[in-house]
Amino acid sequence: LLGPDGTLGVTIFEEMTALAVRHGAINLGQGFPDEDGPAEMAEAARAAILGGANQYAPGQGIPRLREAVAAHQERFYGIAVDPWREVIVTTGATEGIAAAVLALAGPGDEVLTFEPFYDSYGAMIALAGAEHVTVPLHAPHFQPDLAELEAAFGPRTRLVIVNNPHNPTGAVFGPQVLGRIVELAEAHDAVIVTDEVYEHLVFGAPHVPVASLPRAAERTLTVSSAGKTFSFTGWKVGWVAGPEELVARVRTIKQFLTYSSGTPFQEAVALGLGYPDEFFHGIARALAAKRDILAEGLRSAGLEVYVPEGTYFITADTAPLGFDDALDLARRLPELIGVAAIPVSVFCHDDGARRTRSLLRFAFCKKEPLLAEAAARLSRLS
Ligand code: PMP
Ligand code: GLN
Repeated sequence: LLGPDGTLGVTIFEEMTALAVRHGAINLGQGFPDEDGPAEMAEAARAAILGGANQYAPGQGIPRLREAVAAHQERFYGIAVDPWREVIVTTGATEGIAAAVLALAGPGDEVLTFEPFYDSYGAMIALAGAEHVTVPLHAPHFQPDLAELEAAFGPRTRLVIVNNPHNPTGAVFGPQVLGRIVELAEAHDAVIVTDEVYEHLVFGAPHVPVASLPRAAERTLTVSSAGKTFSFTGWKVGWVAGPEELVARVRTIKQFLTYSSGTPFQEAVALGLGYPDEFFHGIARALAAKRDILAEGLRSAGLEVYVPEGTYFITADTAPLGFDDALDLARRLPELIGVAAIPVSVFCHDDGARRTRSLLRFAFCKKEPLLAEAAARLSRLS
């Protein structure tokens, strides 16, 4: 967590966004859309503020949002959760993950994730004083080897963090991989924390929540967020759903992280979660078209493209263009051609970083002309 001189490190997202701003580059680094979500939701937040919803929300979240989360789980996945005891609202998925890891893992425990892994997992596991064990995802489809998955479990495995759809690779894990995780977690009496913030951003098969699999719900905390689903990443409204006893432990930690989360945004997200199915399908459709434009652009620029099945992100290999250090390239790219991207190696420990050394992650949650312009600029790399 500390930089080489002992100062606090800055996340790669901050670093690359700052570079993009400095060089006026197209920012395909940090994953945020360049168009806001529904105006009606923004109006609802405004109305809530003007209507006086400006003091602390209940620590567990406003009742209307907890009910909306429960109704969403039931509607899309047939998962029944009790809004009063089995749902807690958090300040983004980030706080949900932080509170879950701090609540459930500590010194002497092992926490398993796939690798590459979203950066906050590594940071939170370290802050909890637990040990981070990783299972590699293998190109081109970024799926795990089931024997390697099994070998990573041991008597000290306390927690498994799943991220599906997966950031940074855009991989989606199917029932076979997820089912195996559930079996292994059960065999080792481990808890599963599943980060499903991209649940509605899938381009092929429908999303399969871990908690919907047989025998999974009793040991699974599901984390999600309004940021990606509604294109309001700055609102920082997330939630955690799962068994009462586990949610209560998350709540204990959340009390001392933030106590409660922004009241007016909770009102607006409750409205959004009630939108018809077509709204949610429409987001994925629009995003799939953007994915195709950027994938084609990257391909014609000479990169090897791994087409994602979900998320905001495409992973591409710069090795065919003669680059072998994507971290170095990412730091030069904004000045060189006016595009910012994220090196995949920053989502890895040392071994993983070697395996992913030449890979860059590009966000495609941007307007189509901007993606076309980014593709044109990338073609100058060859
Ligand atoms: N998990 C994953 C996998 C993410 O990509 C992100 C960032 N969007 C988050 C969690 C954080 O979500 P939030 O902004 O709701 O805290
Ligand atoms: N989740 C976003 C990404 O992966 C960024 C979030 C952040 O800046 N921490 O790009």
